[in-house]
Amino acid sequence: MTTQNVAAVLHGVGDLRIEEVPRPVAGPGEVLVEIRSVGICGSDVHYYEHGRIGDHVVNAPMILGHEASGVVVGTGQRVAVEPGVPCGHCEQCRAGAYNLCPDVRFFATPPIDGALAHVVAVHEAFAHPVPDELSDDAAALCEPLSVGLWANRKAGTTIGSRVLVTGAGPVGVLCAETARAFGASWVGIADVQPDRLKAAEAFAVDEVIDARRGVDYAAYRPDVLLECTGAEPVVDAGIRALRPRGRAVLVGMGASGTQQLPVQAIQTRELIVTGTFRYAHTYPDAIALAASGRIDLDALVGARLPLAESERALTMGHTDPSVLKTVVTVSEG
Ligand SMILES: [Zn+2]
Ligand SMILES: [Zn+2]
Repeated sequence: MTTQNVAAVLHGVGDLRIEEVPRPVAGPGEVLVEIRSVGICGSDVHYYEHGRIGDHVVNAPMILGHEASGVVVGTGQRVAVEPGVPCGHCEQCRAGAYNLCPDVRFFATPPIDGALAHVVAVHEAFAHPVPDELSDDAAALCEPLSVGLWANRKAGTTIGSRVLVTGAGPVGVLCAETARAFGASWVGIADVQPDRLKAAEAFAVDEVIDARRGVDYAAYRPDVLLECTGAEPVVDAGIRALRPRGRAVLVGMGASGTQQLPVQAIQTRELIVTGTFRYAHTYPDAIALAASGRIDLDALVGARLPLAESERALTMGHTDPSVLKTVVTVSEG
């Protein structure tokens, strides 16, 4: 057996190297997965450009990538890789809220290596089998789909909900598509970037809202806000637009950890405002939803590059803003 493994390793700000790394050894309960596709996420780009996200600092070389699919070595089973493996026995894990486990080991969050590699070790319970209907890219994108699914669960989106999504990046689009699958009667998505607004037209939303002009979100009478920008004025306007008993789910991360909120609106309309952190128990549903064809994950992919061009994949969002999602093809089936 070869010991060779090639990966995209972040050494420092703007310093990504395609190099040989040790082939992982499967620990107890783990399988080895030959990686096929890896979606590039905003967090990968952020680590590449800034070397940190908040308190998570890249102090040692780290393999990037956490939206991955592949094939289990030995069995040939195609899988979607759920990138966060919790401890399994802390208070949060025992309560089923394993996304809040303080000891979770999450791919490409320092110091844990990610999936932009030929071979990765994964806990067997987090290597989710996918059916033939799902492409390798779609299997990888069950990760951001899980974010959308979880946000809608937190929002209590249900039949008849009117859902406003602010921010038309990949997560915003998937939040909107998932809201539709949850039975929302109206889904609107707002952004300020012309390319993103244009891209959003292709997805099943009722209204693409150009927020460059002054928008009165309240006119849409939303009872759910899925806030995917993190921008303070948008958070504020979105919450103020909610109908009584509405729910706001703050998905997007702001530049600052502190913001002002319209407390009076929250109080007098009994709004519920919650954060969302990754997801838990979403993968089987995300896989089923994508396999049913009700959410077309392949339609998100605007560019596909080989592992050797991972650096270009990371900067794609800047060079071509119309590309919603870039996928790195590590190997092909
Ligand atoms: Zn991601
Ligand atoms: Zn735990």
